[in-house]
Amino acid sequence: MIPYGRQSISQEDIDAVVEVLRSDFLTQGPMAGRFESSVARYCGVPHAVAMNSATSALHVACLALGLKPGGLLWTVPNTFVASANCARYCGADVGFVDIDPATWNMDAGALEKALAAARKNGRLPSIVVPVHFGGQSCDMERIAGLAREYGFRIIEDASHAIGGSYRGKPVGSCEYSDVAVFSFHPVKIIATAEGGMAMTRDAGLAARMAELRSHGITRDPARMRAAPEGPWYYEQTALGFNFRMTDVLAALGLSQMGRIDAFVARRRELARRYDTLLAGLPVRLPGREAHADSCWHLYAIRVPGRRADVFGRLRAAGIGVNVHYIPVHTQPYYRDLGFKPGDFPESESYYREAITLPLYAAMTDAQQDEVVAALRSALAVAA
Ligand SMILES: *Cc1c(COP(=O)(O)O)cnc(C)c1O
Repeated sequence: MIPYGRQSISQEDIDAVVEVLRSDFLTQGPMAGRFESSVARYCGVPHAVAMNSATSALHVACLALGLKPGGLLWTVPNTFVASANCARYCGADVGFVDIDPATWNMDAGALEKALAAARKNGRLPSIVVPVHFGGQSCDMERIAGLAREYGFRIIEDASHAIGGSYRGKPVGSCEYSDVAVFSFHPVKIIATAEGGMAMTRDAGLAARMAELRSHGITRDPARMRAAPEGPWYYEQTALGFNFRMTDVLAALGLSQMGRIDAFVARRRELARRYDTLLAGLPVRLPGREAHADSCWHLYAIRVPGRRADVFGRLRAAGIGVNVHYIPVHTQPYYRDLGFKPGDFPESESYYREAITLPLYAAMTDAQQDEVVAALRSALAVAA
Protein backbone atom coordinates (compact mmCIF):
# COMPACT_ATOMS: atom_id res chain seq x y z
CA MET A 1 0.00 0.00 0.00
CA ILE A 2 1.32 3.48 -0.91
CA PRO A 3 0.22 5.54 2.16
CA TYR A 4 -1.35 9.00 1.83
CA GLY A 5 1.36 10.38 4.09
CA ARG A 6 4.30 9.17 6.12
CA GLN A 7 7.34 10.40 8.02
CA SER A 8 10.94 10.35 6.75
CA ILE A 9 13.30 9.15 9.49
CA SER A 10 17.05 9.15 8.85
CA GLN A 11 19.92 7.51 10.74
CA GLU A 12 20.78 11.05 11.92
CA ASP A 13 17.30 11.35 13.49
CA ILE A 14 17.72 7.99 15.23
CA ASP A 15 21.18 8.95 16.53
CA ALA A 16 19.81 12.25 17.88
CA VAL A 17 17.08 10.41 19.81
CA VAL A 18 19.46 7.77 21.17
CA GLU A 19 21.85 10.47 22.34
CA VAL A 20 19.09 12.00 24.48
CA LEU A 21 18.21 8.56 25.87
CA ARG A 22 21.80 8.28 27.13
CA SER A 23 21.79 11.85 28.57
CA ASP A 24 20.64 13.19 31.95
CA PHE A 25 17.36 14.62 30.68
CA LEU A 26 14.53 12.68 29.08
CA THR A 27 12.09 15.55 29.53
CA GLN A 28 12.33 19.27 30.35
CA GLY A 29 16.02 19.34 29.39
CA PRO A 30 17.87 21.45 26.86
CA MET A 31 16.40 19.90 23.69
CA ALA A 32 12.88 21.35 23.90
CA GLY A 33 14.35 24.86 24.09
CA ARG A 34 16.73 24.21 21.20
CA PHE A 35 13.88 22.85 19.07
CA GLU A 36 11.76 25.91 19.94
CA SER A 37 14.60 28.27 18.94
CA SER A 38 15.13 26.41 15.69
CA VAL A 39 11.47 26.65 14.65
CA ALA A 40 11.22 30.27 15.83
CA ARG A 41 14.27 31.23 13.75
CA TYR A 42 12.85 29.37 10.74
CA CYS A 43 9.58 31.31 11.03
CA GLY A 44 11.14 34.66 11.91
CA VAL A 45 9.11 34.93 15.12
CA PRO A 46 10.51 35.66 18.60
CA HIS A 47 8.61 33.11 20.73
CA ALA A 48 7.80 29.41 20.42
CA VAL A 49 6.25 27.06 22.99
CA ALA A 50 6.65 23.34 22.29
CA MET A 51 3.89 21.01 23.49
CA ASN A 52 2.91 17.37 23.34
CA SER A 53 0.50 17.99 20.42
CA ALA A 54 -1.07 20.69 18.28
CA THR A 55 -4.33 19.89 20.05
CA SER A 56 -2.74 20.93 23.37
CA ALA A 57 -1.23 24.02 21.76
CA LEU A 58 -4.63 25.12 20.41
CA HIS A 59 -6.20 24.55 23.84
CA VAL A 60 -3.53 26.52 25.68
CA ALA A 61 -3.59 29.32 23.07
CA CYS A 62 -7.35 29.71 23.60
CA LEU A 63 -6.91 29.92 27.38
CA ALA A 64 -4.01 32.36 27.08
CA LEU A 65 -6.17 34.58 24.85
CA GLY A 66 -8.83 34.58 27.57
CA LEU A 67 -11.44 32.25 26.09
CA LYS A 68 -13.92 31.42 28.87
CA PRO A 69 -17.20 29.58 29.45
CA GLY A 70 -19.83 31.43 27.43
CA GLY A 71 -17.20 32.74 24.99
CA LEU A 72 -17.30 32.11 21.26
CA LEU A 73 -14.72 30.81 18.76
CA TRP A 74 -15.23 30.44 15.02
CA THR A 75 -13.39 28.07 12.69
CA VAL A 76 -14.14 26.18 9.46
CA PRO A 77 -15.98 22.85 9.10
CA ASN A 78 -13.29 21.59 6.66
CA THR A 79 -10.73 20.73 9.32
CA PHE A 80 -9.73 18.17 11.89
CA VAL A 81 -12.00 18.22 14.95
CA ALA A 82 -9.22 19.67 17.14
CA SER A 83 -9.60 23.15 15.54
CA ALA A 84 -13.09 23.38 17.08
CA ASN A 85 -12.64 21.22 20.19
CA CYS A 86 -10.13 23.72 21.65
CA ALA A 87 -13.05 26.08 22.34
CA ARG A 88 -15.11 23.34 23.99
CA TYR A 89 -12.21 22.52 26.38
CA CYS A 90 -12.55 26.13 27.60
CA GLY A 91 -16.32 25.79 28.00
CA ALA A 92 -16.85 28.16 25.05
CA ASP A 93 -19.19 27.80 22.08
CA VAL A 94 -18.13 27.04 18.52
CA GLY A 95 -19.37 28.64 15.31
CA PHE A 96 -18.31 27.81 11.76
CA VAL A 97 -17.57 29.82 8.63
CA ASP A 98 -17.89 28.05 5.29
CA ILE A 99 -15.00 27.49 2.88
CA ASP A 100 -14.11 28.97 -0.48
CA PRO A 101 -15.17 26.44 -3.15
CA ALA A 102 -11.84 26.74 -5.02
CA THR A 103 -9.19 26.89 -2.27
CA TRP A 104 -11.09 24.94 0.43
CA ASN A 105 -9.83 27.46 2.99
CA MET A 106 -11.94 29.79 5.14
CA ASP A 107 -13.90 32.07 2.79
CA ALA A 108 -12.95 35.59 3.95
CA GLY A 109 -16.07 36.99 2.23
CA ALA A 110 -18.29 34.55 4.14
CA LEU A 111 -16.45 35.52 7.34
CA GLU A 112 -17.13 39.21 6.68
CA LYS A 113 -20.86 38.56 6.10
CA ALA A 114 -21.13 36.38 9.20
CA LEU A 115 -19.39 39.06 11.31
CA ALA A 116 -21.76 41.77 10.11
CA ALA A 117 -24.73 39.56 11.03
CA ALA A 118 -23.18 38.62 14.37
CA ARG A 119 -22.64 42.27 15.26
CA LYS A 120 -26.36 42.91 14.70
CA ASN A 121 -27.20 39.91 16.91
CA GLY A 122 -24.72 41.02 19.59
CA ARG A 123 -22.77 37.74 19.51
CA LEU A 124 -19.36 38.30 17.95
CA PRO A 125 -16.59 35.69 18.30
CA SER A 126 -13.61 36.58 20.47
CA ILE A 127 -11.32 34.17 18.57
CA VAL A 128 -11.26 33.08 14.92
CA VAL A 129 -9.20 30.02 13.89
CA PRO A 130 -8.37 29.98 10.16
CA VAL A 131 -6.99 26.60 9.06
CA HIS A 132 -4.32 26.52 6.34
CA PHE A 133 -5.77 23.57 4.49
CA GLY A 134 -3.20 21.26 2.94
CA GLY A 135 -0.42 23.73 3.82
CA GLN A 136 -1.75 26.70 1.85
CA SER A 137 -2.20 29.86 3.90
CA CYS A 138 -5.62 31.46 4.14
CA ASP A 139 -6.08 35.08 3.05
CA MET A 140 -4.57 36.30 6.32
CA GLU A 141 -4.27 39.98 5.40
CA ARG A 142 -8.00 40.19 4.83
CA ILE A 143 -8.83 38.15 7.95
CA ALA A 144 -6.49 40.34 10.05
CA GLY A 145 -8.27 43.44 8.68
CA LEU A 146 -11.58 41.99 9.88
CA ALA A 147 -9.99 41.21 13.26
CA ARG A 148 -9.15 44.91 13.69
CA GLU A 149 -12.65 45.93 12.61
CA TYR A 150 -14.54 43.43 14.77
CA GLY A 151 -12.11 43.03 17.68
CA PHE A 152 -11.38 39.32 17.62
CA ARG A 153 -8.06 37.51 18.13
CA ILE A 154 -6.59 35.10 15.58
CA ILE A 155 -5.09 31.64 16.15
CA GLU A 156 -3.82 30.19 12.87
CA ASP A 157 -4.27 26.42 12.86
CA ALA A 158 -1.10 25.93 10.82
CA SER A 159 -0.92 22.21 11.64
CA HIS A 160 -0.45 21.51 7.91
CA ALA A 161 1.60 24.53 7.07
CA ILE A 162 5.11 24.68 8.53
CA GLY A 163 7.32 25.36 5.50
CA GLY A 164 4.59 27.25 3.65
CA SER A 165 4.70 30.98 3.07
CA TYR A 166 2.29 33.88 2.71
CA ARG A 167 3.17 37.19 1.03
CA GLY A 168 6.82 36.13 1.08
CA LYS A 169 6.92 35.45 4.85
CA PRO A 170 6.97 32.01 6.46
CA VAL A 171 3.70 30.73 7.88
CA GLY A 172 4.18 30.96 11.65
CA SER A 173 5.70 34.45 11.50
CA CYS A 174 2.44 35.66 13.11
CA GLU A 175 2.49 38.79 10.98
CA TYR A 176 -1.33 38.56 10.77
CA SER A 177 -2.22 36.62 13.92
CA ASP A 178 -1.79 36.39 17.69
CA VAL A 179 -0.69 32.75 17.68
CA ALA A 180 0.09 30.13 15.01
CA VAL A 181 0.06 26.44 15.88
CA PHE A 182 2.03 23.65 14.17
CA SER A 183 1.56 19.87 14.44
CA PHE A 184 4.40 17.36 14.25
CA HIS A 185 2.22 14.29 13.86
CA PRO A 186 4.06 11.82 11.56
CA VAL A 187 1.91 12.56 8.48
CA LYS A 188 2.63 16.30 8.75
CA ILE A 189 5.68 18.13 7.32
CA ILE A 190 8.11 17.21 10.14
CA ALA A 191 7.56 14.54 12.79
CA THR A 192 8.08 14.24 16.54
CA ALA A 193 5.70 11.23 16.84
CA GLU A 194 3.27 13.37 18.87
CA GLY A 195 4.02 17.06 19.18
CA GLY A 196 3.02 20.61 18.44
CA MET A 197 4.19 24.18 18.88
CA ALA A 198 2.60 27.59 19.44
CA MET A 199 4.36 30.55 17.81
CA THR A 200 3.75 34.18 18.84
CA ARG A 201 5.24 37.69 18.71
CA ASP A 202 3.76 38.51 22.13
CA ALA A 203 6.14 37.79 25.04
CA GLY A 204 3.29 37.88 27.58
CA LEU A 205 1.23 35.37 25.61
CA ALA A 206 4.28 33.11 25.25
CA ALA A 207 4.90 33.20 29.02
CA ARG A 208 1.25 32.42 29.76
CA MET A 209 1.23 29.52 27.28
CA ALA A 210 4.47 28.15 28.76
CA GLU A 211 2.92 28.26 32.25
CA LEU A 212 -0.30 26.58 31.15
CA ARG A 213 1.78 23.87 29.45
CA SER A 214 3.28 22.97 32.82
CA HIS A 215 0.59 23.00 35.57
CA GLY A 216 0.18 26.78 35.56
CA ILE A 217 3.49 27.05 37.40
CA THR A 218 5.94 29.94 37.10
CA ARG A 219 9.53 30.16 38.37
CA ASP A 220 9.91 33.75 37.13
CA PRO A 221 9.85 36.17 40.13
CA ALA A 222 8.45 38.89 37.86
CA ARG A 223 5.33 36.75 37.28
CA MET A 224 4.82 35.77 40.96
CA ARG A 225 2.33 37.27 43.38
CA ALA A 226 4.69 37.00 46.37
CA ALA A 227 8.43 37.50 46.72
CA PRO A 228 10.29 34.17 46.21
CA GLU A 229 10.91 32.44 49.55
CA GLY A 230 14.13 30.90 48.23
CA PRO A 231 15.70 29.32 45.17
CA TRP A 232 13.30 26.36 45.40
CA TYR A 233 10.25 28.61 45.22
CA TYR A 234 7.63 28.48 42.47
CA GLU A 235 4.04 29.60 42.24
CA GLN A 236 1.04 28.01 40.60
CA THR A 237 -0.91 30.98 39.24
CA ALA A 238 -3.45 29.21 37.01
CA LEU A 239 -4.92 25.73 36.50
CA GLY A 240 -2.51 24.38 33.91
CA PHE A 241 -1.74 20.97 32.46
CA ASN A 242 1.14 18.65 31.76
CA PHE A 243 1.39 19.33 28.02
CA ARG A 244 5.21 19.39 27.87
CA MET A 245 7.19 17.97 24.96
CA THR A 246 9.77 15.40 26.03
CA ASP A 247 13.45 16.01 25.24
CA VAL A 248 13.51 12.67 23.40
CA LEU A 249 10.95 13.92 20.89
CA ALA A 250 12.33 17.47 20.76
CA ALA A 251 15.66 15.98 19.63
CA LEU A 252 13.82 14.23 16.80
CA GLY A 253 12.11 17.50 15.86
CA LEU A 254 15.37 19.45 15.93
CA SER A 255 17.03 16.85 13.72
CA GLN A 256 14.06 16.94 11.30
CA MET A 257 14.34 20.75 11.09
CA GLY A 258 17.71 20.17 9.43
CA ARG A 259 15.87 18.63 6.46
CA ILE A 260 12.64 20.66 6.38
CA ASP A 261 13.60 22.64 3.27
CA ALA A 262 14.37 19.43 1.40
CA PHE A 263 11.05 17.90 2.56
CA VAL A 264 9.08 20.92 1.36
CA ALA A 265 10.99 21.18 -1.93
CA ARG A 266 10.20 17.54 -2.71
CA ARG A 267 6.53 17.98 -1.76
CA ARG A 268 6.29 21.01 -4.07
CA GLU A 269 7.91 19.05 -6.87
CA LEU A 270 5.45 16.17 -6.40
CA ALA A 271 2.49 18.59 -6.31
CA ARG A 272 3.62 20.17 -9.60
CA ARG A 273 3.97 16.69 -11.07
CA TYR A 274 0.41 15.82 -9.98
CA ASP A 275 -0.81 19.08 -11.57
CA THR A 276 0.75 18.05 -14.87
CA LEU A 277 -0.09 14.34 -14.77
CA LEU A 278 -3.74 14.91 -13.78
CA ALA A 279 -4.45 17.74 -16.24
CA GLY A 280 -7.32 16.76 -18.50
CA LEU A 281 -8.79 14.12 -16.17
CA PRO A 282 -12.40 14.64 -15.00
CA VAL A 283 -11.31 15.78 -11.53
CA ARG A 284 -10.82 19.21 -9.92
CA LEU A 285 -7.31 20.05 -8.75
CA PRO A 286 -6.44 22.18 -5.71
CA GLY A 287 -7.04 25.91 -6.26
CA ARG A 288 -4.41 28.47 -5.35
CA GLU A 289 -4.75 31.35 -2.88
CA ALA A 290 -3.16 34.51 -4.25
CA HIS A 291 0.12 35.25 -2.40
CA ALA A 292 0.34 31.82 -0.72
CA ASP A 293 3.00 29.20 -1.45
CA SER A 294 1.84 25.88 -0.01
CA CYS A 295 4.15 23.33 1.61
CA TRP A 296 1.78 20.63 0.33
CA HIS A 297 0.90 18.58 3.39
CA LEU A 298 -2.07 17.30 1.39
CA TYR A 299 -2.87 17.03 -2.29
CA ALA A 300 -6.65 16.70 -2.41
CA ILE A 301 -8.73 16.44 -5.57
CA ARG A 302 -12.47 16.60 -6.19
CA VAL A 303 -14.15 13.74 -8.03
CA PRO A 304 -17.69 14.91 -8.75
CA GLY A 305 -20.48 12.36 -8.58
CA ARG A 306 -18.56 9.14 -7.94
CA ARG A 307 -16.10 9.73 -5.14
CA ALA A 308 -16.96 6.59 -3.16
CA ASP A 309 -16.53 4.27 -6.17
CA VAL A 310 -13.23 5.84 -7.27
CA PHE A 311 -11.99 5.80 -3.66
CA GLY A 312 -12.83 2.10 -3.29
CA ARG A 313 -11.07 1.20 -6.56
CA LEU A 314 -7.94 3.13 -5.53
CA ARG A 315 -7.81 1.40 -2.15
CA ALA A 316 -8.31 -1.97 -3.87
CA ALA A 317 -5.37 -1.11 -6.14
CA GLY A 318 -3.12 -0.58 -3.12
CA ILE A 319 -3.28 3.23 -3.12
CA GLY A 320 -3.72 4.53 0.44
CA VAL A 321 -6.02 7.42 -0.41
CA ASN A 322 -7.85 9.23 2.38
CA VAL A 323 -10.50 11.94 2.82
CA HIS A 324 -9.90 15.34 4.48
CA TYR A 325 -12.28 16.31 6.01
CA ILE A 326 -15.67 15.13 7.16
CA PRO A 327 -17.24 18.53 8.00
CA VAL A 328 -16.82 18.97 11.75
CA HIS A 329 -20.35 20.32 12.27
CA THR A 330 -21.82 17.02 10.98
CA GLN A 331 -20.02 14.95 13.66
CA PRO A 332 -22.48 13.51 16.22
CA TYR A 333 -20.87 15.54 19.03
CA TYR A 334 -21.52 18.80 17.14
CA ARG A 335 -24.99 17.72 15.98
CA ASP A 336 -25.83 17.30 19.67
CA LEU A 337 -24.90 21.00 20.03
CA GLY A 338 -27.47 21.95 17.37
CA PHE A 339 -25.56 21.86 14.06
CA LYS A 340 -27.02 19.93 11.14
CA PRO A 341 -26.21 18.87 7.58
CA GLY A 342 -27.02 21.73 5.23
CA ASP A 343 -25.59 24.39 7.56
CA PHE A 344 -22.34 24.82 5.57
CA PRO A 345 -23.02 23.72 1.97
CA GLU A 346 -19.57 24.43 0.45
CA SER A 347 -17.80 22.30 3.05
CA GLU A 348 -20.37 19.55 2.61
CA SER A 349 -20.22 19.52 -1.20
CA TYR A 350 -16.41 19.56 -1.09
CA TYR A 351 -16.48 16.62 1.35
CA ARG A 352 -18.78 14.57 -0.93
CA GLU A 353 -16.19 14.82 -3.75
CA ALA A 354 -12.86 14.87 -1.91
CA ILE A 355 -10.04 12.35 -2.21
CA THR A 356 -6.57 12.96 -0.75
CA LEU A 357 -3.89 11.41 -2.97
CA PRO A 358 -0.63 10.07 -1.47
CA LEU A 359 2.04 12.75 -1.00
CA TYR A 360 5.09 12.63 1.26
CA ALA A 361 8.73 13.67 1.00
CA ALA A 362 10.08 10.13 0.46
CA MET A 363 7.60 9.35 -2.32
CA THR A 364 9.31 8.37 -5.57
CA ASP A 365 8.28 9.42 -9.06
CA ALA A 366 7.53 5.74 -9.78
CA GLN A 367 5.16 5.56 -6.80
CA GLN A 368 3.44 8.73 -7.95
CA ASP A 369 3.11 7.32 -11.49
CA GLU A 370 1.48 4.24 -9.96
CA VAL A 371 -1.05 6.46 -8.13
CA VAL A 372 -1.86 8.35 -11.33
CA ALA A 373 -2.22 5.14 -13.37
CA ALA A 374 -4.57 3.69 -10.73
CA LEU A 375 -6.61 6.91 -10.72
CA ARG A 376 -6.83 6.91 -14.53
CA SER A 377 -8.14 3.35 -14.62
CA ALA A 378 -10.53 3.96 -11.70
CA LEU A 379 -11.96 7.00 -13.51
CA ALA A 380 -12.28 4.98 -16.74
CA VAL A 381 -14.52 2.35 -15.16
CA ALA A 382 -16.10 3.93 -12.06
CA ALA A 383 -19.84 4.50 -12.10
C1 LIG B 1 -3.22 17.20 12.77
C2 LIG B 1 -4.10 18.37 13.03
C3 LIG B 1 -4.40 18.84 14.32
C4 LIG B 1 -4.00 18.11 15.55
O1 LIG B 1 -2.66 17.87 15.61
P1 LIG B 1 -2.08 16.91 16.76
O2 LIG B 1 -0.64 17.29 16.82
O3 LIG B 1 -2.30 15.52 16.29
O4 LIG B 1 -2.81 17.21 18.02
C5 LIG B 1 -5.15 19.98 14.45
N1 LIG B 1 -5.63 20.64 13.37
C6 LIG B 1 -5.38 20.21 12.11
C7 LIG B 1 -5.92 20.99 10.97
C8 LIG B 1 -4.64 19.05 11.91
O5 LIG B 1 -4.44 18.61 10.67
